[in-house]
Amino acid sequence: MKYGGNTPCIEMRFEDPERLIIIDAGSGIRELGNHMMVHDLPKGDIRAEIFLTHTHWDHIMGFPFFTPIYVPGTQLKVYGPVTYEDDPLEEVVGGQLTYRYFPVRRTDLASRIEYIDLREGRFDLGDGITLTAKYLNHPLLCLGYRFEHHGKVFCTAYDTEPFQNLFCADPEDPSFDAAVAEEGEHVAKEENQRVENFFAGADLLVHDAQYTEKEYTSSKKGWGHSALEHVVSSARRAHVKRCALFHHEPVRTDAEMDALATQHCTPEDGQTTHTFFAREGMEIEL
Ligand SMILES: [Zn+2]
Ligand SMILES: [Zn+2]
Repeated sequence: MKYGGNTPCIEMRFEDPERLIIIDAGSGIRELGNHMMVHDLPKGDIRAEIFLTHTHWDHIMGFPFFTPIYVPGTQLKVYGPVTYEDDPLEEVVGGQLTYRYFPVRRTDLASRIEYIDLREGRFDLGDGITLTAKYLNHPLLCLGYRFEHHGKVFCTAYDTEPFQNLFCADPEDPSFDAAVAEEGEHVAKEENQRVENFFAGADLLVHDAQYTEKEYTSSKKGWGHSALEHVVSSARRAHVKRCALFHHEPVRTDAEMDALATQHCTPEDGQTTHTFFAREGMEIEL
């Protein structure tokens, strides 16, 4: 009730010139679509870009319920990483609109939707907006996004967890090889440093923080989500100004979230990173 029950969708508005960028099409995009029908459509045809972090269902499931796709004149560009070449973005996302799942077919949509594959790199989005896309550590190809505009930096880093040493680190294990284990440690450390560099100095970072350290180390390693303790310290090291902990564990109650916030979140003191739990509908100005 307090933190929200929808799956990821972030609305990013630019004022001059007016521009709308949406990150992810989780169930939250339904509410956004309804808002746009009332506030944006009367001003003219809807134009928006949707950047998908990845195509896990919680990040695309709201797409068929995004009302602007049924409005003639709407123009959308949908960007996202593609894991398998023979499984294009248009199929993965738009494929939810087939009679098997939904009463409307993709080919019957009134809007114009363009699908664009995205890889790691730096892109000029026009109007002085630049985007850096960075691969994260998730079971499926997943991109973190860094948007820069007029000296302000907004970053997303979800769904992700710290990179681990993929080789055996237990000297008792018969497959243990000291040199290989050391190399594995080195590579993991380097990759984690790269992620921190990616969001360094951000005015706002939205970071995966699904678990507590205890939950993570006891049974959730390799699931592709981070422990909030890790995020708090990593954002601080990277001199992030504000860090929104995001992608909450769905089974937690508001009371449990409040308790975790009291324990781990850090106040706004103008010196160190201000860390807080993201809440549905929260508006932040940069
Ligand atoms: Zn995911
Ligand atoms: Zn997710």
